[in-house]
Amino acid sequence: MRLANKTALITGGNSGIGLATAKMFAAEGARVAITGRDRKRLDDAVVLIGNGAIAIQADVTDIEALEQGITEAGKTLGRFDIVFANAGIGGATPLGQTTLAQFDQIIRTNLTAVFFTVQAALPYVADNGSVILNGSVHAVLGMPHSAGYAATKAGVRAMTRNFATDLAPRGIRVNQVTPGGTRTPIWDNRAPTADDYAALEARISRAIPFGRFGEADELAQSALFLASDESRYITGSEIVVDGGATGAP
Ligand code: NDP
Repeated sequence: MRLANKTALITGGNSGIGLATAKMFAAEGARVAITGRDRKRLDDAVVLIGNGAIAIQADVTDIEALEQGITEAGKTLGRFDIVFANAGIGGATPLGQTTLAQFDQIIRTNLTAVFFTVQAALPYVADNGSVILNGSVHAVLGMPHSAGYAATKAGVRAMTRNFATDLAPRGIRVNQVTPGGTRTPIWDNRAPTADDYAALEARISRAIPFGRFGEADELAQSALFLASDESRYITGSEIVVDGGATGAP
């Protein structure tokens, strides 16, 4: 049990990478609090995660509700040994067609909310705790119509390094997992049918040396390492889980 007697907060823990990570953390002994918007998916996730998991419904773009939800989770669990700020959305922001509302939405969800998640969790984060942010290869990789999303993830990457220096005096480590294309529902908007999805994954996979998307479990393994004491001297760093996409020439 690599997380025996530990507690973890995971935003966006009812789907995709967050859910896979919550299940893995619980299987390794942690008690997990997850957040999300969709009540049914939260309730279903709690059953899947087990080990006394709790679910808090909160929209991360409503910063007051986010702070209240995290405080409630902190009071229930007593402390957070691990915080995984994972909730996020995809979405295209094509030049010439993007509204301010669309741009604001992606910034607020993927960037502003990450800052306020960490800030709200901080009073409950244990000394020597582990904070993990979910980034993206898009922070360093140019793709059509992705400037808004990429900007949020470049901001998250910068926050990882800055939070690490802020929190080092308390022994709190701050690191990032950096997914490349990963099979989760985040792609549903861009590929609503199974055929659309297969075509999209095949197209993107041509630029991935391993020739396929990652699985949510493959991201969760890296989050588990960063959450565990095995990574106790690692902070301000990131683990890129992209099948070689950003290492390819
Ligand atoms: P999913 O769509 O499966 O999960 C996203 C999670 O975020 C859900 O639990 C969702 O819950 C939550 N969420 C989204 N918006 C909000 C909101 N406004 N308030 C509260 N919760 C919210 O996608 P992934 O698992 O793929 O995404 C997780 C992270 O991984 C994201 O930060 C994403 O950017 C990153 N990532 C993913 C990649 C991929 O290819 N899958 C690649 C690179 C990075 P609910 O809908 O209930 O609110």
